[in-house]
Amino acid sequence: MASVSTYPDVMDKLVSLAKRRGFIFQSSEIYGGTGSVWDYGPLGVELKKNVKDRWWHAMVRARDDIEGLDAAILMHPRVWEASGHVATFTDPLVDCTNCKRRFRADDPSIKGTPGQPDAQCPVCGAKGTLSNPRMFNLMFKTFMGPVEDSAAVVYLRPETAQGIYVNFLNVQQSTRQKVPFGIAQIGKAFRNEITPGNFIFRTREFEQMEMQFFVDPEAKAPERSDMEWFEYWKEQRLHWHLALGLQPERLQFHQHESQELAHYARAAFDVQFDFGGSLGFQEIEGVHHRGDFDLTRHQQYSNKKLEYFDQPNNRRFVPYVIETSAGADRTALAVLVNAYREEEVPGESEGRTVLGLAPALAPIKAGVFPLVKKDGMPEMATRVANDLRRAFPVFYDDSGAIGRRYRRQDEVGTPFGITIDGQSTQDGTVTVRDRDTLQQVRVAADQLRGYIADRIGPAE
Ligand code: ATP
Repeated sequence: MASVSTYPDVMDKLVSLAKRRGFIFQSSEIYGGTGSVWDYGPLGVELKKNVKDRWWHAMVRARDDIEGLDAAILMHPRVWEASGHVATFTDPLVDCTNCKRRFRADDPSIKGTPGQPDAQCPVCGAKGTLSNPRMFNLMFKTFMGPVEDSAAVVYLRPETAQGIYVNFLNVQQSTRQKVPFGIAQIGKAFRNEITPGNFIFRTREFEQMEMQFFVDPEAKAPERSDMEWFEYWKEQRLHWHLALGLQPERLQFHQHESQELAHYARAAFDVQFDFGGSLGFQEIEGVHHRGDFDLTRHQQYSNKKLEYFDQPNNRRFVPYVIETSAGADRTALAVLVNAYREEEVPGESEGRTVLGLAPALAPIKAGVFPLVKKDGMPEMATRVANDLRRAFPVFYDDSGAIGRRYRRQDEVGTPFGITIDGQSTQDGTVTVRDRDTLQQVRVAADQLRGYIADRIGPAE
């Protein structure tokens, strides 16, 4: 359990801002909502897409040793036997016979031992009503085809990784990659979590950004060994999170001790982010050395070889896998928590709420404002907005006092406010206000696109 953080708990404020401004809505809200499933609104979809694009750029496009993949959510049911999910992807569950609620047996809010008279239900407070723990599989089951019998059972994938393993040779042979190389994909995963919660931190439908890197178990210097690759990926992934703008002091590694490690895993570290309040440091990404477990199991269950042929040495082997597994939603939440601040504004009585998002992640890059709705200002502002919109999302706003318009954009993290004033129509310059410093500079309207693109920075 995480200890209480030194950072404030901003979750409730974020949930309300996210709904009010169109980042994230509860799924099927008009029907009372679906448990721990969320919909991304107009700004949220941009934010999450920016997170995923940066990952895809860093992990696939900017490298020549990683290939992309988009595997299907539905897979052959044997995949989940081979992966171990049918047998062991379970959590111990206890029921309260009084209020009918369900809890994970290791829920810290349960007092006493479930199944014993001393155990107390954390919700209704009844004593002795909690059942003995029983194992509950977290995979969603459904049926493929018209007949709903056991032969037709398929699962919604609980992770994207298996789509990569079963395509290992397809990708390797079609791209002629040589070990070491990786396969990366972004996609939905589904887990029937018993205790979801904390907004989009733990949900039943979420997106993963996973990369499996295949290495030679016997690699010798000057090649990197498997453990050196593991260290390499640990550092790369931490660096990626830092480059999102997450504060260094809010990030840490957590090493899985032997009792936490999966039986086949050789090493595992989580990248943790401090979400503030009582949630504190929590995993946002796992970096795992999985040995040859996955490919070997798929060989056994499919009766198909998944060996790599090392031509120069005329050798066949099953590679080891170093996995990096991040949640897109959880990373987006970390980015939002990290960015949220309320502050005083010098010389003004009203404070402001700001999302200090890195410009590359901000859903809207610039607000465009005619100072007043006359004297040619709206026409020029419309031209400026249309020109910028060809390069990135902008928001045109001509309603209300200029200060109010700035505040509305500050609250959703828009890094630049462009105002077209009386001087603009005379000399063709506009003011560009920086969200964080509040400094304004004058820039020629025809230079704006380049100016803002430079300030947003490169894709990585
Ligand atoms: P946890 O212990 O938090 O349930 P896990 O160790 O089961 O996570 P992995 O299976 O390693 O997680 O999944 C990799 C990443 O996928 C996690 O670091 C997280 O970012 C994301 N993830 C996993 N489960 C969920 C979920 N229910 N909701 C949102 N994101 C999730």
